[in-house]
Amino acid sequence: MSSVFHRIPTLRLPVAVKGDGMYIIDRDGKRYIDGYAGGACVSCLGHSQESVVEAVRVQIGKMAFFHSAMFTSEPLEELASILTTDAPEGLSRVFFTNSGSEAVETAVMMARQYFVEIGQPQRKKIIGRRSSFHGANLTALGIGHQLLRRGPFEDMLADVFHISPCYEYRGRKENETVEQYGQRVADELEQAILGLGPNAVMAFIAETVTGTNNGATPPVPGYFKRVREICDKYSVLLILDEVFCGLGRTGTLHACEQDGVAPDFLTFAKGVAAGYQPIGATMVNERIYQAIVSGSGTFKGGYTYSGHATACAAGIAVQKVLRGPGFLEHVRTTGNLLSAGLSDRFGQHPHVGDIRGRGMLMTVELVEDRSTKSPFPASQRLSSKIYQNAQARGLITHALSGTIDGYVGDHVVICPPLIATGENIDTIVGLLGEAVDAAVLEVRSRVD
Ligand code: PLP
Repeated sequence: MSSVFHRIPTLRLPVAVKGDGMYIIDRDGKRYIDGYAGGACVSCLGHSQESVVEAVRVQIGKMAFFHSAMFTSEPLEELASILTTDAPEGLSRVFFTNSGSEAVETAVMMARQYFVEIGQPQRKKIIGRRSSFHGANLTALGIGHQLLRRGPFEDMLADVFHISPCYEYRGRKENETVEQYGQRVADELEQAILGLGPNAVMAFIAETVTGTNNGATPPVPGYFKRVREICDKYSVLLILDEVFCGLGRTGTLHACEQDGVAPDFLTFAKGVAAGYQPIGATMVNERIYQAIVSGSGTFKGGYTYSGHATACAAGIAVQKVLRGPGFLEHVRTTGNLLSAGLSDRFGQHPHVGDIRGRGMLMTVELVEDRSTKSPFPASQRLSSKIYQNAQARGLITHALSGTIDGYVGDHVVICPPLIATGENIDTIVGLLGEAVDAAVLEVRSRVD
């Protein structure tokens, strides 16, 4: 009997004992190719990056930890300096956390404190988007819109107003161009701000490219430019959450570079230390930092392990690889291979409605009927069958349900470690194809 309170205690999980590049190996010696970067889009350098292992070993040997409110440390200073290099315009300071949820919570707390410091305490409302995920602590759960997880906590969550996501496959009307669609959904932000009261809204938060809830869904061109304009018009702060899609995942250091916008806050976690240590970060605009420094002088948030020296040492080693010569170019090349491989395998598949994504973050959305885009009934549990079939074949992937509205629809997210080779991509796409076909067959044979 396990004493662990597992998230789904009824699941019989394999025991992972070793990582080897693109592979994770269980206690029985079975090797799984990693199509989901550590099971959560985390392990961007795979599972045995020696330079990171060595950096952690050296730092623990010298000084594992001391509270960052009492001492700064060399790894903390260096990692902040690396992260602010090549940051979107104005983002000059970094606050460290232990996770993505805390990075989001920190951005929200800083936004609120900023308005209090500058004499606008009435600004406290947040606008988010449906189909978003920003983490599982109560703050992030309230801001996001993962309905199944919000369930029992609904009455305790922050009062957040949610507008439409930018989800072209399901949202664009037939008579609209892609650009018109983007402007229409971005304009929902302006309507929401006016509805809530322009002086009452503090921040708008969005994932630049969504990660989990409706799969890897990039914004259409022009969407975030319009969002930025609206935020500027009403002095609403823009928080872009790149916990999932940031730090190289989309082929550029920051996903928002490709949308030509700079937010007021940018949150990270997974790609900071690639799973070799738990760490998250909130990058903040200089103007907000200065308002807090010249106001009360103290940020009221923070965690015991913020700026943990060993986690920062791992982060430095990871960032050196990510920002090293040719790495992002490699990501763009393999991202193109992934996209082409998925199109070859699933482009004509009778149960694949959409293939979307950016760089090494892709999604295949399953439908029962391509022409009507109707999903499989949730009761068929297609996504969990895909997951099981993939796992049985030695592929780790993430197949999720609730794509359309939190309850219905199925999709698979494919985001392998960024070190993947073309051969790895072929293996992943091939195994995924087999898993999808086998799962659809299971579902269909139960229907017929
Ligand atoms: N934000 C986004 C976009 C995420 O995808 C996630 C987790 O998947 C989080 C925040 C929360 O990160 P964590 O699980 O590290 O708290």
